[in-house]
Amino acid sequence: MSRLPEASPEHPLYHFDITHAPDAGGHFGRFGGRFAAETLMQPLKEIEEAFYAAWADPEFHRERLDLLKNYVGRATPLYHAERLTKLTGGAQIYLKREDLNHTGAHKINNTIGQGLLARRMGKKRVIAETGAGQHGVATATVAAMFGMQCDIYMGREDMARQMPNVLRMRLLGANVIPVDSGTATLKDAVNEALRNWVASCENTFYIFGTAAGPHPYPLLVRQFHTVIGQEARAQILEQAGRLPDVAVACVGGGSNAMGLLHPFRDDADVRLVAVEAAGHGLNSGKHAASLAAGKAGILHGNLTFLLEDDEGQVLPTHSISAGLDYPGVGPELALMLEEGRLELEATTDDDALAALQQLTRCEGIIPALESSHALAAGCRIAAGMRPDQIMIINLSGRGDKDMDNVFKHLGWLEDAR
Ligand SMILES: *Cc1c(COP(=O)(O)O)cnc(C)c1O
Repeated sequence: MSRLPEASPEHPLYHFDITHAPDAGGHFGRFGGRFAAETLMQPLKEIEEAFYAAWADPEFHRERLDLLKNYVGRATPLYHAERLTKLTGGAQIYLKREDLNHTGAHKINNTIGQGLLARRMGKKRVIAETGAGQHGVATATVAAMFGMQCDIYMGREDMARQMPNVLRMRLLGANVIPVDSGTATLKDAVNEALRNWVASCENTFYIFGTAAGPHPYPLLVRQFHTVIGQEARAQILEQAGRLPDVAVACVGGGSNAMGLLHPFRDDADVRLVAVEAAGHGLNSGKHAASLAAGKAGILHGNLTFLLEDDEGQVLPTHSISAGLDYPGVGPELALMLEEGRLELEATTDDDALAALQQLTRCEGIIPALESSHALAAGCRIAAGMRPDQIMIINLSGRGDKDMDNVFKHLGWLEDAR
């Protein structure tokens, strides 16, 4: 087992070059952009300017990396899963352990970054949308730590499904505001948060939860998560002496995927794989695979691939994992797919559940259901590879939050009665 790199700005692995930047309008090729109410153009521009200024300031990175180290617990380990590798019978599988971060997932890398930005901009209040509640918890956590007022918009449907996270946010001092419009789920919560922001942007920073939304959020969120791939790159070089053959991540909006994959983007020999939620199956009409659908449209301020009907109405999604249950995807992933730089996989609810059980039994690690989608697809691909080849799978979060849901699906709750 190897030494972990120190999370300090002096460490050579944390470089701050912005590669593959969008154009001035926030376009990644034909995707992205800034489709927002006129009243939001100015606050979005202010965030963009503040971000570029902060990113060029070593003091910002010093503070950010200090929090990532001493508050979040970075660097996260890269773990060689030898028993999983043996069971799979192919490439050597390494797990990037984002599940070991404070609050249990990768999301806090982003909320720390945007929270620091909010503070630099003098904002006293932060707002966020949340679906499963994971981004809401990560935002409420950072708001508590910075002493900021915090309002979280959440669909009423999601609140009912994710009560423990609602209570956790309250415990952290956040207000959870129920959203009743539309299907009362994540996409409606984003709309409501944007609506509130129009009226409150003077004192309020909107901490957006994934690598989507209007420019500059896709760029911002990607940059705050690249720490995942930068660490993984240095760790695999140290542990295996070379780069991986494949890197795999699950995709809801694309933040953990961009975080792991972006630092390998210019390594032409590294295959990059994104895994979507196929729900009951891609042909079932009940899934959340927006990249696979391949229909371009505008959702939440940017042009991207999304799930819509022939009239352009956004379709309801389904996945066993609430974190992947989003009808859109970040614009940069859409571009990478169209350019042929990204390979696409899909995992059903059942296969994700099986992957969760397999990893738990053979490695003693309970992954989040979202991450289990990446695991299932990763293992499928690894099985067709040679033992001298290497795969990194992003374990985006831990499974504690999913236990009720998992036991329900396995039918164990009835058994216990
Ligand atoms: C939110 C979440 C995801 C999906 O979001 P991305 O922005 O696509 O990364 C994946 N895994 C976990 C554990 C999550 O909490």
